[in-house]
Amino acid sequence: MSMDKKIIFKQAIGDCVHYFKTRTNSPTEKGCRVLMYHSISDDFLLEDSYQMTTPLPLFEAQMAFLYENNYHIISSDHMTDVLMKKKTFLDKTVVLTFDDGFKDNLKVLQVLEKYCFPATIFVTVSYLDQEPVYLSSKDIKFLCDSKLVTIGSHTLSHRLLKGLSDSDLEKEIILSKKILENMISKPVTLFAYPFGAYGAYDKRIVRFVEQAGYKAAFSTIAGVNELHQDRYQIKRTRISRLDTLTEFQKELLGAYDWYKLWQRMSTILPSRG
Ligand SMILES: [Zn+2]
Repeated sequence: MSMDKKIIFKQAIGDCVHYFKTRTNSPTEKGCRVLMYHSISDDFLLEDSYQMTTPLPLFEAQMAFLYENNYHIISSDHMTDVLMKKKTFLDKTVVLTFDDGFKDNLKVLQVLEKYCFPATIFVTVSYLDQEPVYLSSKDIKFLCDSKLVTIGSHTLSHRLLKGLSDSDLEKEIILSKKILENMISKPVTLFAYPFGAYGAYDKRIVRFVEQAGYKAAFSTIAGVNELHQDRYQIKRTRISRLDTLTEFQKELLGAYDWYKLWQRMSTILPSRG
């Protein structure tokens, strides 16, 4: 199936789910929904088949929507604390995350500051100070100076973790953490699996991440997180240029949470994470 047909098919199912959700349930959002962004740029490639890019004006409109509709934006640390202590999430609780460490994430800061929204940026450490499209170590320190941004590890080299040797896992999971901690002079306690869906990691990798001292790890498996959620396999909702405010609202209401079933059925990685 072509990417366009896949998107149309996905949105058609999303429309049906949304229709029934808003007519059979009270449309309040329970649990904690973690939004996953990548690049925030107006210069997206036309194909952008991995849905990695959200134009800045659309991102600003999405943040305004969250603010105006009284969503509670909490940090990943706060979310982790709630899961660890089995507290409760207020309705309409959302966490903002950004993967890979794109340079254009610097533009995000002023939008976050406007609304006082916290966010986590998961950095692929070997990308730093390399290509101009990615953040530099100086940028990371600058972002860290803002109390709104938390830096997490997205491994050393963005490799598929499943099947790696222990020594390679040490580099990807432990060394990346140490390099970031030296850079920002703060503990790094959050991790995001590259590619992140079913098949990208397994129980051995989850245990490795936990034993490395991380408090939580984020997948790319679709869905909302209830209090019983394993905090080393936190679900996320992918947001991209396709998420007009209508689509964004559907994402927040869980119209695409069924997508995790598709992800589970896929024997190959369905998308880049
Ligand atoms: Zn990634």
